[in-house]
Amino acid sequence: MTEPAVGPELLQPREVPLGGQRALMVRRTLPQRARSLIGAWCFADSFGPTPAASARTMDTRPHPHTGLQTVSWLYAGKVEHRDSLGSLAYIVPGQVNLMTAGRGIQHSEVSTEDARGLHGVQLWVALPDASRGTEPLFEHYVPHPLTHGDATVRVFLGELLGLSAPLTTFSPLVGAQIDLPAGGEVRLPVDPAFEHGLLIDAGEPALNGVVVAADQLCYVPKGSDELVIRAGDAAVRGLLIGGEPLGEEIVMWWNFVGRSHDEIVGFRQEWQAEVIAAGDPAGRFGVVRGYDGDPLPAPVLPNAALQPRH
Ligand code: MN
Repeated sequence: MTEPAVGPELLQPREVPLGGQRALMVRRTLPQRARSLIGAWCFADSFGPTPAASARTMDTRPHPHTGLQTVSWLYAGKVEHRDSLGSLAYIVPGQVNLMTAGRGIQHSEVSTEDARGLHGVQLWVALPDASRGTEPLFEHYVPHPLTHGDATVRVFLGELLGLSAPLTTFSPLVGAQIDLPAGGEVRLPVDPAFEHGLLIDAGEPALNGVVVAADQLCYVPKGSDELVIRAGDAAVRGLLIGGEPLGEEIVMWWNFVGRSHDEIVGFRQEWQAEVIAAGDPAGRFGVVRGYDGDPLPAPVLPNAALQPRH
């Protein structure tokens, strides 16, 4: 039996407070009940624009990750990244910070006081089971803008239009910023083995005929070899994410991606024992140096067993 043809599907954002007292509100489009993954992309938060006068609107204390890559991408502002590999890196719009957590890492992300407002996205990519124990790695890249049709395209991860970002990936995927002027159109040839999502920041374009509003994520199942994006009366800015379906069940909780409830419990215990209680630089998560403050304790686990997503 063949699967029924399914058209593009609109996924709505939900507001989530990030961090503690001076929480930054983010708009989360992945994961959600209707969809956990697009390719290996498993998490998408949009934030800002924050008021220009407010300094340090993002102050994410050192926290752990496992089994994933974090992708930080800005439309405005500046963010400082520190991690337990000793990396210190800044991003401004048009630059990507890619952190491969692999077996375990910790990092802090802070918007700097010289930034005028903050506006951007944080995305996660789940690592396939065969690669998720890899050593942690940090990479920074500035993609060259490419013109295709009426669009300006910045390929910040994976491959699109024959252009490949020179960053480490563990499954076939794409991440790119797409900009279109008002009334513009672009036809993007894509791999039909990929499923895709278009996360709109500005404008209200049609993607393969479906109108997508700001902060919506439009999902296109695999089988399409072309994505047609038409701008309406306003200029469009959005992110295209996609990839081959991961084809694995994952368990996501807090900042960890694993494969079972018990594995996540173990990651949490190691974080609490080695970092929050003891500060063991030889532990799984190492030590972040230069951040003004303490690492973030893990929340309490829910009573019910964590359920796998696919
Ligand atoms: Mn993080």
